[in-house]
Amino acid sequence: MALREIIILPDKQLRLVSKPIEKVTSEIRKLADDMFETMYDAPGIGLAAIQIAQPVRLITMDLAKPNPDGETKPEPRVFINPAIIASSDELSVYEEGCLSIPEYYEEVERPAKVRVRFTDLDGKVHEEDAEGLYATCIQHEIDHLNGVLFVDYLSKLKRDRVIKKFEKAAKRAE
Ligand code: ZN
Repeated sequence: MALREIIILPDKQLRLVSKPIEKVTSEIRKLADDMFETMYDAPGIGLAAIQIAQPVRLITMDLAKPNPDGETKPEPRVFINPAIIASSDELSVYEEGCLSIPEYYEEVERPAKVRVRFTDLDGKVHEEDAEGLYATCIQHEIDHLNGVLFVDYLSKLKRDRVIKKFEKAAKRAE
């Protein structure tokens, strides 16, 4: 496993549409391993491959909560070529953040429940109903595969403000 660098706003690669994965190769498994290491290190609960500059439709996620003993057992999950195949009319609001937009959090409204179809690392296709944090997280990560960021859901004023802030920071770092 290797720690990879997470690209951040305004890196243009974040706007790329990622390509479908045709076959689960050892290269894809290695990429997933690296994504978990990078995601846990950040730390974050979800990561799309494009966030480490790999434009393929691969997501890692871990939404594990502490058990009654206060311990957290990891629940690593991999989603290959994930797609939302149904969404509820009911909406819910979560305060979202993004490893590619560090230290910025805003409330975003999305469908409260979604049905997601995806392939696992063994090449098996699954369909699952997601709600709560899982629903929000999978929608946020699939957006990344389509070049969409959570700030795109904010008012133009808020979005322009955060994008400008990160552009300025990038200029200063040059
Ligand atoms: Zn994100």
